[in-house]
Amino acid sequence: MDWPVLLEAAEAAARATTGRGRVADYIPALATADPEAFGMAVATVEGELHGVGDWQRPFSVQSVSKLFSLALAVAYGGDTLWQGVGREPSGNPFNSLVQLETEHGIPRNPFINAGALVVTDRLHTMTGDASGAVREFLRRESGNPLLDTDPVVAASEAEHGHRNAALAHFIASHGNLENPVETVLEHYYAHCAVATSCRDLVLAGSFLARYGVRADGTRLMSRSETKRINAVLLTCGTYDAAGEFAFRVGLPGKSGVGGGILAILPGRAAVCAWGPRLDQAGNSVAAVAALDTLTTLSGCSVF
Ligand code: GLU
Repeated sequence: MDWPVLLEAAEAAARATTGRGRVADYIPALATADPEAFGMAVATVEGELHGVGDWQRPFSVQSVSKLFSLALAVAYGGDTLWQGVGREPSGNPFNSLVQLETEHGIPRNPFINAGALVVTDRLHTMTGDASGAVREFLRRESGNPLLDTDPVVAASEAEHGHRNAALAHFIASHGNLENPVETVLEHYYAHCAVATSCRDLVLAGSFLARYGVRADGTRLMSRSETKRINAVLLTCGTYDAAGEFAFRVGLPGKSGVGGGILAILPGRAAVCAWGPRLDQAGNSVAAVAALDTLTTLSGCSVF
């Protein structure tokens, strides 16, 4: 695979989206992102690492962190997690409250905010420090010891987090949180507010391409657990547009409102694209265009 050539073509497709979409501003600290920034990186299971554009420039990981909190909760806790959170696409916005009432405080999947709060809660029970566990994992796998939570973004999320607080309280009212609401929210914001880059994310996400094996060769989770996480990424990882993402890109992936999308080519590579302008569903316009071009030109997808 000629990754540098593919990345160049993907970057051209991303740059052609200039002006489309809007930078997220419901968390005020995110609104300062450079709308024209774009980066993309690939890490292969053989150890190749390639990047284009702003691939080493930090951005707010946001919901892409939910992939890592889920993986760690599954790795440490196994199947018990699925008693508190489902695995069906929600068909609703990521921060929606409506389904929680009919589904008795059991969120539809681990990637909508409600589900990610439950995952963070269980990971906190298992480790005593949910956001620390996510940060530590990201640091170790990416080899970047400086990777950290941006305190300004975390504080901004907390200050404007009425919806997440409402979700957490509602889930707690159904007895589906094991830790205090304030603790769960604090750790959720702290892992969403990690500043990372395409480079860090492809390295940290490569365990999913390696069927559960970490960068140092040790196993984080079984092959079957990896399959399950990739399956939930495909069906629920890109907000209420997972169908469109599968249609265009054909890979399991997780997006975040910081504009990053981390996608997995099982058995081959992890790919991350980043551009801060988002479409209506909350996915990066540039990153989707880049990933679409990469899989279309290379013919590589899970289909
Ligand atoms: N921390 C963000 C929130 O809770 C994450 C949103 C996202 O990236 O989807 O609203």
